[in-house]
Amino acid sequence: MIREDLVIVCCTDIAGQVRGKGFPTVDLGRRRNRGIGWVPTNAAITAFGVIPDSPFGSIGDLLVVPDERTEVRVDFRDGSPAEHFFLGDIRHTDGKPWDCCLRHLLAQALETLTAETGLTLQSTFEHEFHFIDETGWSGSSFSQDGFRIEQAFGETLTAALRAAGVEPDSFLREYGPGQYEVTTGPQAGVTGADHAIVLRILTRATAFRLGRRVSFTPLRSPGGVGNGVHIHMSFLDAEGRPVTHDPKGVGGLAKVPASFVAGALKYLPSYVALTAPSIVSYARLTPHRWSAAFNNLGFRDREAAIRICPVAEVPGQDPERQFNVEFRAADAAASPHLQLAAVVLAGLQGIREGLPAPTPTHDDLTLLNGRALAARGLVRLPQSLPLALERFAGDKLVRSWFPDALVDLYVRAKRGEIAALKDLSEDAVCRAYEQVY
Ligand code: GLU
Ligand code: MG
Repeated sequence: MIREDLVIVCCTDIAGQVRGKGFPTVDLGRRRNRGIGWVPTNAAITAFGVIPDSPFGSIGDLLVVPDERTEVRVDFRDGSPAEHFFLGDIRHTDGKPWDCCLRHLLAQALETLTAETGLTLQSTFEHEFHFIDETGWSGSSFSQDGFRIEQAFGETLTAALRAAGVEPDSFLREYGPGQYEVTTGPQAGVTGADHAIVLRILTRATAFRLGRRVSFTPLRSPGGVGNGVHIHMSFLDAEGRPVTHDPKGVGGLAKVPASFVAGALKYLPSYVALTAPSIVSYARLTPHRWSAAFNNLGFRDREAAIRICPVAEVPGQDPERQFNVEFRAADAAASPHLQLAAVVLAGLQGIREGLPAPTPTHDDLTLLNGRALAARGLVRLPQSLPLALERFAGDKLVRSWFPDALVDLYVRAKRGEIAALKDLSEDAVCRAYEQVY
């Protein structure tokens, strides 16, 4: 059969989906600067394919312009077309950035952080997912048997990630039925979030080629085990030296990173609608399921919105370079660019306010009432998407970190998503999300 190579330029949207347009690879030269046409309303299509109440309607034209540095070409060598794609920025037809471009929002937030502190943020997004066709058996958590069952999958994915320029770190059988986890090396700047997208694309691409189906949905079934996205963050100075750690700081955090963490936690209730943005996200963010139910800092504790991670202090390892914090109130229903932008903008606010390091919690916070929590600067996170959205829409300061047009579009898109699922049972809502993420 005749065939000609195609390449696709993609962007992530409010629904956390990767969308884009393909064209003949021979046209890349011509398309490098001008990209390919895009429609404003596309940014608000819900994960369920419904176009919500959009301020743009059918009007307007934009471009998705590929970023040269993001090119991925992975040939699985099974006779199928290579996965050849670029991530791009959404721009106006005159080349100016579009207010609702999530990748541009993150780039700007990171630039501001560097301009105000001299520090560069490194990040990596740890992903949990499950095989839709594996149910029932959960006895194999973390086992060699569970690893072997999906070893071929893991090896193909590892090769694909490496071919894409993403550094594979681990592949493991997680706790839940059919649940696995994949982690990759940290990257400075926007690339951290770009690699999260490459990871999601290549995990799906591997599944597609092996005749499998995977889902990154935040929660597989009511009461089931969650699929989290844990965003690991650390800071470098202008010379590329690690500066997150100070042995004298609270939990080992240096001063500026501590203020960043304090801001990210203080404002979390008002922006969690951006980092955990689905209806089922809020059934995951409940106590005693190793996710995040409060805006607390944990020292090596997995029931915390931000966790100070362990370092290996054995000879030959550099603890300074390993030291990082992990943001756990996130999942794969969000665009990684928007997720990280929200955390960075809150962290930056914490730095501007000179907030001190929060005190890490060690106890069961569900045993404290609202007043006792408040005395420690803590709150229970919003307990549903509508409540989280209301909180976001009503917080003047947090809203002011984002362009008005984006806040408006976000709230409309999410209300559309809520409306699309309003008549479904809890079970059916979980199944619906499992299909689209
Ligand atoms: N599955 C848990 C979550 O929903 C995380 C478990 C872990 O600590 O890896 O975030
Ligand atoms: Mg895990």
